[in-house]
Amino acid sequence: MTAANTAELVHRAQGLARGVLAQHAEKVDAEALWPAESLRAIADAGLLGLHVPERLGGHAQGLGALLRITEELALGCSSTAMCYGMHCVASAVIVARATPYQEQRYLAPIAQGRHFTTLSLSEPGTGVHFYLPRVTFRATGRGFVLKGEKSFITNGGYADSYVVSAVADGDDLDPGTFSCLLVDAETTGLEWGPPWSGFGMRGNASRGLRLNLSSVPSVNLLGSEGDQVWYVFEVIAPYFLAAMTGVYLGVAQGALELATAHLKSRIHDHTGQRLSHHAVLVEQIADMWRKIERTRQLAHHAARLGDEGAPNAGPALFAAKIDVAETAVEVTTAAMSLMGGRGFQQGGTLARLLRDAQAAHVMAPTTHLLKTWLGRSALGEPLL
Ligand SMILES: Cc1cc2nc3c(=O)[nH]c(=O)nc-3n(C[C@H](O)[C@H](O)[C@H](O)COP(=O)(O)OP(=O)(O)OC[C@H]3O[C@@H](n4cnc5c(N)ncnc54)[C@H](O)[C@@H]3O)c2cc1C
Repeated sequence: MTAANTAELVHRAQGLARGVLAQHAEKVDAEALWPAESLRAIADAGLLGLHVPERLGGHAQGLGALLRITEELALGCSSTAMCYGMHCVASAVIVARATPYQEQRYLAPIAQGRHFTTLSLSEPGTGVHFYLPRVTFRATGRGFVLKGEKSFITNGGYADSYVVSAVADGDDLDPGTFSCLLVDAETTGLEWGPPWSGFGMRGNASRGLRLNLSSVPSVNLLGSEGDQVWYVFEVIAPYFLAAMTGVYLGVAQGALELATAHLKSRIHDHTGQRLSHHAVLVEQIADMWRKIERTRQLAHHAARLGDEGAPNAGPALFAAKIDVAETAVEVTTAAMSLMGGRGFQQGGTLARLLRDAQAAHVMAPTTHLLKTWLGRSALGEPLL
């Protein structure tokens, strides 16, 4: 696969969103299906290796490309965009400090569209505090044995590998003592929880996983033991925030497009006028547009700072995800009122977007957590 520039990759994402993603989106939502066809098409279009270095066949792209591509994909199917985003975050984590073995075993196949990975940090016990794993790993002669429980793993049961956080058995569980390990899908002792049936983002397969003394080889350790706070703030948080911000920008933009199409096409018998003639409704469209564009500009600015390695990238990315969660929820709600009983009654695309938008606040780092981090950044205090 030859490396492509951002514009070309975004163009491919637009084509996929309008085609295969849009075609499957309602069924994926209605039946809570993992979007296999859409993700296959994304892989075939060469988008899996977005963050993989060019020398391994990838596109060596950063946060800006991830933000733009996930926004475009979400216009077709937000669940698919989320599944793809989690693959990208996990692949960026692998890229960050990959060994030559990990490059050949994981990154080259990812670039070839043959390997799909995902991130498994959250746990039932520590909830939104995704940087505090309780899953343990114990060194054996040839590798590590993992034990414990993970929750809400997007792509759970469908990915080829999982970037799993765990803490060394016996550690005092301080932040920073944990490590990430690559767990292959065929690893023994993986026990998946029930199928995912979310209120929104229903095509995510965000499932729980029990690791019953699962063995992974020592070559599957990412980075060095205990350097994970570096991963959390240098890789996981920026890439995750860029991906999530892109997805929910797409959700909000999709709702705005549905609302404008409705106002332009709905004509009352007694006036013969389109709804778009009413100033009060036009103003509401203006407010929705303003919110989306303001969030988009903040997001692009934040991603640019992140790609440049600027010291103030973190707070800007935190702010962008806080903003996009508010924008997605407000814009989808406003769109529902603009589309009247018809939008409400018909369900379909807008109802899906309205439900999908709700996940923006609760996916870690949640809005609560990000406000704490942003406030502490502004005060010059440690984030954790
Ligand atoms: C659709 C979806 C997909 C997901 N995909 C993934 C994935 O791929 N990988 C992964 O690792 N995780 C994933 N998650 C998990 C997600 O990131 C959160 O970890 C999870 O939603 C936490 O749920 P909880 O019920 O345990 O929340 P709780 O921890 O019980 O929190 C409940 C509420 O309290 C707030 N809260 C809790 N503690 C504090 C505090 N100290 N200060 C302020 N507010 C606080 C939270 O912000 C939240 O609003 C996903 C979740 C969803 C919904």
